[in-house]
Amino acid sequence: MTEKQRILVVDDERFNLNVLADLLKTDYTVILAKNGEQALERAGKQPPDLILLDIMMPGMDGYQTLKALKENQTTREIPVIFITALGGGEEEEKGLLLGAVDYIVKPFQPAIVMARVKIHLKIVRQRKLLENIALLDGLTEIPNHRSFTERFAQEWQRAMRSRAPLSLGILDVDHFKQYNDTYGHGQGDEVLKTVATVLTQELKRTPDFAARYGGEEFAMLLPETDARGAAKVAQKICKAIEDLGIEHAGSSASRWLTVSIGGTTLVPTMEQTEGQLFETADKMLYEAKKKGRNQATWQH
Ligand code: GH3
Ligand code: MG
Ligand code: MG
Repeated sequence: MTEKQRILVVDDERFNLNVLADLLKTDYTVILAKNGEQALERAGKQPPDLILLDIMMPGMDGYQTLKALKENQTTREIPVIFITALGGGEEEEKGLLLGAVDYIVKPFQPAIVMARVKIHLKIVRQRKLLENIALLDGLTEIPNHRSFTERFAQEWQRAMRSRAPLSLGILDVDHFKQYNDTYGHGQGDEVLKTVATVLTQELKRTPDFAARYGGEEFAMLLPETDARGAAKVAQKICKAIEDLGIEHAGSSASRWLTVSIGGTTLVPTMEQTEGQLFETADKMLYEAKKKGRNQATWQH
């Protein structure tokens, strides 16, 4: 079973809140807010999938609330349906032009509210599914290059603000061309899936992030981790892969399949670019290959 979708209902009248909650609670998780300020707070804390928003409310009205939702990065994508006693074309036009996805006039017919809610939540589900597909690698089902680029930019900014070290590692499968030639491309694909699984298992801390960077290369990000800690993790990954005992007859590094990892750590400042971190990690990877593969080289 997939999780119930969440709907935030905003209305200053307790009676209206109760009617809508009763109507929706069987199929959805319903969260209530009795004014615009409360709606912004609740939506910001844990964004719902859909918002049903009254227009006439004391304090912040529905239009102002919608504007504020649209100005906030966390809440801007949440679809909003106005549900209001304000009938008439002009009001409806204003609401839709402000960015509401739908407009329902009170007194409403429950079946129509349900039908419209269902349509918009279906769109939300599809959008989320597409976003997910766009950010995952099709073969290994871990985050892809694009996803990594996004996360890397966020972590870079965060590390710069908090002056915390940021560690980046690049992993490359050893003699993988030879592996494909010996065991076939299909078996090679299986290896890439296995490497992805091991990476995900070994990177245990919540902010750690691993992605398939392309081909047989994986990238990993370890926020708030110094060089010593990151190098240790990288060595553990190398060992975990070799310990799987996947036969690799053509390898000069081991009789088993192995990987090499290059990495570096820094506290980002305004003078540095994200590209420099990658260049250094790449150099370190080259060093690890040169020194005989099946090892991690980290710049301290
Ligand atoms: P090194 O130890 O120096 O890294 O040698 P290598 O053979 O691993 O490096 P090279 O860059 O010469 O070859 C990489 C190989 O990875 C070539 C390519 O066929 C294979 N490869 C890249 N992407 C995939 C993939 O999605 N599936 C499979 N099966 N193989 C892939
Ligand atoms: Mg390579
Ligand atoms: Mg390789």
